[in-house]
Amino acid sequence: MNYKKIIQEVFTTVDAIENKGNLASYIPELASLNPNKFGVHIVTTSNIKCGLGNYQEKFSIQSIAKVLSLCLAYKILDGDLWKRLGVEPSGNPFNSLLQLENDNGIPRNPFINAGAIVIADVLISNLKNPKEDLLTFIRSLSSNNDIHYSAKIAASEKSVGYRNIALCNFIKSFGNIENEPCDVLNFYFDLCSLEFSCEHLSELFLFLANNGKAPHNGNQILTKSQSKRINALMQTCGFYDESGEFAFKVGLAGKSGVGGGIIAIHPNQYSIAVWSPKLNKKGNSYKGMKFLEGFTTLSEQSIF
Ligand code: GLU
Repeated sequence: MNYKKIIQEVFTTVDAIENKGNLASYIPELASLNPNKFGVHIVTTSNIKCGLGNYQEKFSIQSIAKVLSLCLAYKILDGDLWKRLGVEPSGNPFNSLLQLENDNGIPRNPFINAGAIVIADVLISNLKNPKEDLLTFIRSLSSNNDIHYSAKIAASEKSVGYRNIALCNFIKSFGNIENEPCDVLNFYFDLCSLEFSCEHLSELFLFLANNGKAPHNGNQILTKSQSKRINALMQTCGFYDESGEFAFKVGLAGKSGVGGGIIAIHPNQYSIAVWSPKLNKKGNSYKGMKFLEGFTTLSEQSIF
């Protein structure tokens, strides 16, 4: 498969289309992003690499980080984790409070904000230094150690984090948050502030295309079964109320973030990251979605 040629062709096409959508203006720091940034990077399990556009520039990965915190929590609690949250698509926006009332404070899945807040609580309960320990875990996934939280972005989100504050307190009222809501929220905002380039992000996530094994050193990060389940969750819940559309049009396991990034996994084949900050109505990168749709269509390769 000549990935380089396909990426070049799809990138050129998508680069030329009208850049529709809006920046994530509800977080002040994200509202000032350059909307014309566009980058993509692929790395295969056989170590073929290819990047185009702004693929070496760091951006705020936002909800993509929820996959990483979930992996660590799953490693710690294994199947017991699912006593605290579900594995069903929510069919609702990422920051919705609606279903929590009926579901007694058990979030539908780990990728809506409610679920990621519960995962943050699990990590605080089980780690000595959650913030540092999470970074150590993420640094173990690739050979590149240059991984940092952005204090500026975390503070910016916190300053307007009314819905997440409401979500955390609401879940606490059902007894599904063990720690102080302010500690859980601070950790959640830090998590969402992580910054990566497309190049680094695709390399970091390659273990999920490699049956849970980190390709750079052969360490088994998750069991094969756990890795399969994380991919399944990304496929069914990774794009909020657009997850069905992503499966339909792209056909990969993936996760988006409101910073305009998307990571997508083709098990046993590759990990691909794309970044373009303008978001469609569902909060997913407009050009990122278009690029991945074009990529799997032209390569005629998807998990289906
Ligand atoms: N930090 C964002 C929030 O909580 C994450 C949402 C996203 O990236 O989809 O609103």
